[in-house]
Amino acid sequence: MMYDINKIREDFPILEREVNKRPLVYFDNAATTQKPNCVINSIAEAYQKTNANIHRGVHTLSQEATELHEGARRRIASFIGAESSDEIIFTRGTTESINLVATSFGNTFINKGDEIIISTMEHHANIVPWQMLVERQGGILKVIRLNSIGELDLEHYKSLLSKNTKLVAISHASNVLGTINPIKEIINLAHQNNTPVLVDGAQAVAHCKVNVQDLDADFYVFSGHKLYAPTGIGLLYGKREYLEKMPPYMGGGEMIAKVTFQKTTYNDLPFKFEAGTPDYIGSQALAKAIDYIESLGLEHIAKYEAELLDYASKKLLAEFPNAYIFGQAIEKTAILSFGIGDIHPFDLGTLLDQLGIAIRTGHHCAEPLLNTFGYTAMARASFALYNSKAEIDSFFEALHRVVAMF
Ligand code: PMP
Repeated sequence: MMYDINKIREDFPILEREVNKRPLVYFDNAATTQKPNCVINSIAEAYQKTNANIHRGVHTLSQEATELHEGARRRIASFIGAESSDEIIFTRGTTESINLVATSFGNTFINKGDEIIISTMEHHANIVPWQMLVERQGGILKVIRLNSIGELDLEHYKSLLSKNTKLVAISHASNVLGTINPIKEIINLAHQNNTPVLVDGAQAVAHCKVNVQDLDADFYVFSGHKLYAPTGIGLLYGKREYLEKMPPYMGGGEMIAKVTFQKTTYNDLPFKFEAGTPDYIGSQALAKAIDYIESLGLEHIAKYEAELLDYASKKLLAEFPNAYIFGQAIEKTAILSFGIGDIHPFDLGTLLDQLGIAIRTGHHCAEPLLNTFGYTAMARASFALYNSKAEIDSFFEALHRVVAMF
């Protein structure tokens, strides 16, 4: 297939805008992605044609909206290779999905002295809920070390697994280093130890094909907004055997079977975990985003993004003798965390913005990772399916101008 970048860019209206009188160059895709017209239009169309609260409605609009929402659930189940759409729980995003598991699974199955393994490269969303849990329950958090290029130390991981390990929670790909972790192997090792695994897929689903059954993941979570879908919709995939045993996370409408003042019984999966009116507009838009990326083909997107990363990484090191790249794993998504000499990343980011270039600077919600390597902040350019080599050239032109100021 021809990857027609000019045609693809036309699908994203925001790419036409200017920032500080310069064409926008948006390299903050690991934080959130821009949306194609099919996603934007899906939201307008849902409100124009089929808006009604879903489930239990006897009227036509409600039934249509319900079918669109449940159709989206089936679409997402097939996208990640789930056995059943009952295992697809809609949430607000990765953070809520992890908190759901930490609370519902955690309060039920993690007890005093039990251990949870995470890694040094985790986002705060995959650290703090587990810290809160072990504080609550009296458990212990163990952290897998990384090697010098930002890959997991698998020998260290193996040494941490023990009869006390009750959960492994690990990112599929790092939002700072870009490292893609050998998730299948990590899960296999955990399963040999009878330990379930939660995978934080926030940085993976838009960049590589995920099949939860092939990985044998017990929980897999991600956010729609990093996958060209709207904010406020995300996902928890969980194996039925765990979800069935877990109590509800929030109480309210939708998650009940029968309510009396004496006792409430709960609804079946997936509704047991979906209290309140769900984001039935966001779910449809997420399904549209999935249709969009699948029409391009995730393998083509991954190949194209890898070319962008390679081009930008080589250019950085060739053109700036005192530049460094944080995260040089063999398997990487298109994330370039970098620094130049002792220029503060915040200054780089602010001055690049004056030239229309959007990158992210700071600790990227992974403070322990940065601190481990002796950093407090980092500049990060992250690429998406609609970025171009011409944009990378503009970025470097701007970078030369900025660096010359120091
Ligand atoms: N995990 C990773 C690896 C992430 O990159 C992010 C978002 N930066 C999150 C979790 C949290 O996602 P959200 O804010 O959408 O809940």
